[in-house]
Amino acid sequence: MAELANDLGSPFCPKCGGRTIRKVVGGRERDTCPDCGYTQYTVATIGIGALVFRGDSVLLVERGIPPVGIWTVPSGFLEQDDDITSALVREVKEETALDVTNVQGIVIVRNTVRTDKNDLYVVMLCDVDEHQQPEPDGRESTQARFVPTSELDTVGISEFSRWIVTHYLHHKPTPMKMITIPGYRADAKVFGNF
Ligand SMILES: [Zn+2]
Repeated sequence: MAELANDLGSPFCPKCGGRTIRKVVGGRERDTCPDCGYTQYTVATIGIGALVFRGDSVLLVERGIPPVGIWTVPSGFLEQDDDITSALVREVKEETALDVTNVQGIVIVRNTVRTDKNDLYVVMLCDVDEHQQPEPDGRESTQARFVPTSELDTVGISEFSRWIVTHYLHHKPTPMKMITIPGYRADAKVFGNF
């Protein structure tokens, strides 16, 4: 089973299914595929969080998946065919049944580096349909509601979601919005403050 002691967690190439080998690339040993030339640089996940306000309240969900019972801003993982905006819209809909009507942009990025994976968590400020009321899906979320920002301690909110809400309200950073660059790669989504 020594062949599983690699970065991929599998001896097979994620691109062509060929058997990978350990090889020094760019100064360190990595999983590489002799068949197609694929090189595994990192095992990464990208999480998306939605920061949504209604009046003096913020949208929070009680998690139905680990860590169960903790309240957070609606969150989920990026799929292979997502961009961060489509992931945001989907996760808000799944966990709260609310339709995102406007994505204002990125307000916070967290990078968690662990031995088994490297995770980016991107928090985006957005607006939802003001006529709808949040409803949990009963699976990913067991409760969903707008919680007054003065009453965050009445729910078991996660340390980081509390930080997101309180620091956003204190500093009100301008969201990094999606920018269209005419003629540039159609598959690239670029965000910035310009
Ligand atoms: Zn391959």
